[in-house]
Amino acid sequence: MATIEETTKRGLCVSCGSCKAVCPTEAITYLFQDGIFVPSINKEKCINCSKCFEVCPGIEVNYTYLHKKYSDKIPSDFFKGNSIASYIVVTKNENILLNSSSGGFITSLIESLLAKKEYDSAFLLKYDDFDGLPAFLERVTDHKKVKEYSKSKYIPANIEKAIKYILTNRRNKVIMVLVPCHVHALLKLIEKEKLNRDNYFIIGLFCYKTLIIIFMNIIIKNMVVLIDLIIEIKRKRDGQEIQNYILMKKANLLVGMKECF
Ligand SMILES: Cc1cc2nc3c(=O)[nH]c(=O)nc-3n(C[C@H](O)[C@H](O)[C@H](O)COP(=O)(O)OP(=O)(O)OC[C@H]3O[C@@H](n4cnc5c(N)ncnc54)[C@H](O)[C@@H]3O)c2cc1C
Ligand code: SF4
Ligand code: SF4
Repeated sequence: MATIEETTKRGLCVSCGSCKAVCPTEAITYLFQDGIFVPSINKEKCINCSKCFEVCPGIEVNYTYLHKKYSDKIPSDFFKGNSIASYIVVTKNENILLNSSSGGFITSLIESLLAKKEYDSAFLLKYDDFDGLPAFLERVTDHKKVKEYSKSKYIPANIEKAIKYILTNRRNKVIMVLVPCHVHALLKLIEKEKLNRDNYFIIGLFCYKTLIIIFMNIIIKNMVVLIDLIIEIKRKRDGQEIQNYILMKKANLLVGMKECF
């Protein structure tokens, strides 16, 4: 039976924590490797049930099946998906707007839904600094606290707590702000565990990519010729976010590299 070792040995792990959340024997722990938390299986505890593999978004996401199931038609481009309508939205709350990543829509929307008690809780990410643990999405029930979680953090976020919560509170209506790999894990979980999709309000964030130290290492190991062009590798605090940059001498080499992780 396959386990998430199929994912980790290929370097496809996005550090979402879904595997650890579903493992029935608590055989999975995290190892901090190359800047991300990668799951590791304790072979003595593992019963080869394959549950971890079945929810993993790093490998075997069946886009055709998911599109057929959750939308009217198969899109011509799986990555763009089907668009029903597009709006540009900005919150009217100036305090939220000034503390948000873009228009503050997400924070305002969740605040309002929790205040009206339309959902039991929301799983959101608040990240101040690296504390030796994964960046877990945390459960928020008080609408007044939602704004403490605003702003994007360009790091691999961990949904282990969210998954554990919905598995043990199957009827609760929950909001989750997720990047695409999280959404894939959740949809796989909904299928496998026969959860009610209507209980989950998924707010999906576009995600160009979250660059991690593995990526930086690949650049440094495989593109030695570029080393002479590196001006500096910098770690910078920008508000609540830690950003890491590789600044290059040639502007065209900045593409995809002047990113944070
Ligand atoms: C890793 C990452 C990559 C992104 N890449 C793009 C992109 O390429 N193009 C683009 O248009 N937009 C991207 N976004 C989305 C964009 O940054 C804003 O989040 C989005 O426009 C919403 O803005 P807002 O003002 O409504 O959000 P806010 O009101 O500021 O709320 C942001 C919400 O995101 C949640 N959150 C923060 N970080 C994470 C995380 N790492 N994982 C899960 N939830 C998180 C917070 O809990 C908060 O609820 C990305 C976001 C993230 C987290
Ligand atoms: S195969 Fe089953 S027991 Fe083994 S690590 Fe995966 S989920 Fe846990
Ligand atoms: S479920 Fe998530 S954390 Fe586990 S191996 Fe797959 S991508 Fe990595």
